[in-house]
Amino acid sequence: MALIVHKYGGTSMGSPERIRNVAKRVAKWARAGHQMVVVPSAMSGETNRLLGLAKELSPELSTPDLLRELDAIAATGEQVSSGLLAIALQAEGMASVSYAGWQVAIATDSAHTKARIQSIDDVRVRADLAVGKVVVITGFQGVDENGNITTLGRGGSDTSAVAVAAALKAHECLIYTDVDGVYTTDPRIVPEARRLSTISFEEMLELASLGAKVLQIRSVEFAGKYRVPLRVLSSFTPWDINIVEEATSGTLITFEEDEKMEQAVVSGIAFNRDEAKISLLGVPDKPGIAFQILGPVADANIDVDVIIQNVSHGGKTDFSFTVHRNDYARTVALLKAQVMPKTGDAQLTGDTKICKVSIVGIGMRSHVGVASRMFSTLSDEGINIQMITTSEIKTSVVIDEKYMELAVRALHKAFDLEQPAAA
Ligand code: ADP
Ligand code: ASP
Ligand code: MG
Repeated sequence: MALIVHKYGGTSMGSPERIRNVAKRVAKWARAGHQMVVVPSAMSGETNRLLGLAKELSPELSTPDLLRELDAIAATGEQVSSGLLAIALQAEGMASVSYAGWQVAIATDSAHTKARIQSIDDVRVRADLAVGKVVVITGFQGVDENGNITTLGRGGSDTSAVAVAAALKAHECLIYTDVDGVYTTDPRIVPEARRLSTISFEEMLELASLGAKVLQIRSVEFAGKYRVPLRVLSSFTPWDINIVEEATSGTLITFEEDEKMEQAVVSGIAFNRDEAKISLLGVPDKPGIAFQILGPVADANIDVDVIIQNVSHGGKTDFSFTVHRNDYARTVALLKAQVMPKTGDAQLTGDTKICKVSIVGIGMRSHVGVASRMFSTLSDEGINIQMITTSEIKTSVVIDEKYMELAVRALHKAFDLEQPAAA
């Protein structure tokens, strides 16, 4: 008998019929002798609907007081789906109880809309498990030290599930979703994408941080920190599929590297349309200029991602960087107010129609020429690269958003990631 955590995403919880299916699947696992904890997301579309209602009343939701209310609103989606799942489980004859984040409690910091989990109290959950109940815990939400409801950022139910699994020292955390595992790239963009039966933790961390939304980045960080066995699999298989077959399906996140050594140099491709580029043209090329520009941006708590500084021409240079699109207007306003007055006749330009495409693979450590193959592939497609950033196991380029799908498809083919052709 093992303690298992299941997480079901929005599509998997998308209707009463699907919730009934989830309940049947969970009941099957419980009847096989496992202690079950289930973390559901809000029903699909619900979080967007709730956030949309709030935006109708106040389009600019950025002050701490407004973000606090936004969390109180957004968190209700998971509360509804958790209650529904507990009812469905009871209808299947399984004793079950649902808890909101604050009832467990899942303690977080106070960073509304992107809170971080600090600790999870396991007392209540363990007591319920001990008497044979299936425990349903809301994903996406927690409570700060002042009793305020917080949420963990979009896609945060993954993180709730892995954190709960870590706190309970669960045997495994199974992330059930609308795809049957982690693919070489988003199968919605490249239908030829191939499912990976395993992926290394490091590669998964990069893919998630670079935009592959199949797992929220923080869930992968938690899995790494607490060594939580993590598997991504489909919730759309028949609920009564053989449990051993189910338990070995999907994609396992592995913590050993060497078994990958013989595999592809590039394991996956991620893309991200959430960033915007800001350029300061003709700033004085002198020591301290990067700090002069980015210091106020950092002070305003705005994350900067890719940065590029051009070669100097006549003592002047161009400086570009990317921020999240949600922070674009704020960053431009801040630069105009605080930085531009000190940069002579520099010009500020911005571009919100960019995207970042990244190739990821631990094989890149031991192979040269991978980045140049990426650049030549994009050049063959006539795609201009605006910015480049690399690390040991990834190379990212910033390009015009309209070429995103073309770039991902071309790279997927160039790095031989497609499914083997049928014999
Ligand atoms: P859930 O609601 O279950 O959390 P998400 O929509 O958050 O589901 O994540 C699953 C989606 O992630 C898939 O439908 C797929 O379109 C997308 N995705 C992006 N990159 C990948 C990838 N490399 N492998 C699998 N799915 C991916
Ligand atoms: N319901 C939340 C969202 O849509 C959390 C999640 O689904 O993981 O972002
Ligand atoms: Mg998700």
